[in-house]
Amino acid sequence: MFTTLSDRLSETFKALRGKGRLSEADIDATAREIRLALLEADVALPVVKDFIAAVKERARGEEVSQALNPAQQVVKIVNEELVGILGGETRRLTFAKTPPTVIMLAGLQGSGKTTLAAKLALWLKDQGKSPLLVAADLQRPNAVNQLQVNGERAGVTVFAPQPGNGVGDPVAVSREGVAEARRTLHDVVIIDTAGRLGIDEELMRQAADIRDAVTPDEILFVVDAMIGQDAVNTAQAFLDGVGYDGVVLTKLDGDARGGAALSIAKMTGKPVMFASAGEKLTDFDLFHPDRMASRILDMGDLLTLIEQAEKTFDAEQAAKAAAKLQEGEFTLDDFLEQMQQVRKMGSLTKMLGMLPGMGQFRDQLENFDEREIDRIQAIIQSMTPAERANPKMIDGSRRARIAKGAGRTVADVNQLVDRFFEARKMMQQMARGGMPGLPGSPGM
Ligand code: GDP
Repeated sequence: MFTTLSDRLSETFKALRGKGRLSEADIDATAREIRLALLEADVALPVVKDFIAAVKERARGEEVSQALNPAQQVVKIVNEELVGILGGETRRLTFAKTPPTVIMLAGLQGSGKTTLAAKLALWLKDQGKSPLLVAADLQRPNAVNQLQVNGERAGVTVFAPQPGNGVGDPVAVSREGVAEARRTLHDVVIIDTAGRLGIDEELMRQAADIRDAVTPDEILFVVDAMIGQDAVNTAQAFLDGVGYDGVVLTKLDGDARGGAALSIAKMTGKPVMFASAGEKLTDFDLFHPDRMASRILDMGDLLTLIEQAEKTFDAEQAAKAAAKLQEGEFTLDDFLEQMQQVRKMGSLTKMLGMLPGMGQFRDQLENFDEREIDRIQAIIQSMTPAERANPKMIDGSRRARIAKGAGRTVADVNQLVDRFFEARKMMQQMARGGMPGLPGSPGM
């Protein structure tokens, strides 16, 4: 997502480097490039127009900071404007004063609603809530079953229609679902409603009937970010037909141009609240306009990276590893453990792509082979405990034995051992407070 936009904007900013001040012509040329980049990314025309007008005005205007050079200033302005059209601040869910909080999902079929319902439930559960999923999508043949499967994976109870429980009537199922939550003390109810392939009146009426029956605290409109310009029209139709409080963008992991994400909040006046970027239940988070903007500008997304890392890293284990490092006792076992931790953080490429200035290495990152970790694991596991604890003892004949055991070549083993010593050295330096070899921020 946003790869082309990101690349084009970087090119545009690059052209400004080294300029002492921006002439009117520079500003015009830059604005024209940004305009093309946004249009090419499928951002809605009215949004582009406002955006460009604002950037031009501010670039020309009084905002001359002594601290920033002209190129930096333009990046800063574009960043702030991007944050603005993405909705400004992160908007969070409002919970009802008297539980259960009722959250209703609406959107087209295939938008990722059912998947999202389970993701949201898991996310809420992780925050100490006790959600109940209600399967009120009775249109799509497999939707109820799919929600049950996903609910089970998330460890969240699913309320599904049963005989006498409103089979065939999504309004009754929704109402019953909320009653069930009250009875069984679930504090959040998430209602998955039916979608159609396109917008139709019947669909809107059904969603409006459910809304009237359960008076949700939050209605979330779920939209597939890959449908491009259509997303804005669909968003508008649902706003008119059902109304909603916030938007959830799904499939942000896709390679679509991402313009939908940039247009919806501005066009509908409703904030994007959550973003979903993958098929795994954990590929889901609050939507942060500032982080999204900095990702588009390839300033990296350190905050997301850090949060993600904190979520998956075992703090205790990390502390242990750090202590070992300082005592110079870091072993191959620790090395392997660290590798596995990194993998737990999700796709390495995804994570690395969030680092500032990594945009230029995107091709290399995409070619990174995560099976490498499996190979490393096989080699380390072919070592004896003594060898792992004291890698210095791994001599030529041991290397040959290890290679054979792991089904790799001696050169592979050599490479791994070398890498381990290098990593240990670097980590020791870091533990002492230095930060060797960290790439500087993009030279702007
Ligand atoms: P619904 O008809 O709106 O309930 O949509 P589903 O939840 O069944 O999703 C439709 C398809 O999109 C399924 O194949 C999902 O696995 C997939 N999907 C949902 N969310 C995402 C996402 O964030 N990224 C990707 N890549 N696929 C998704």
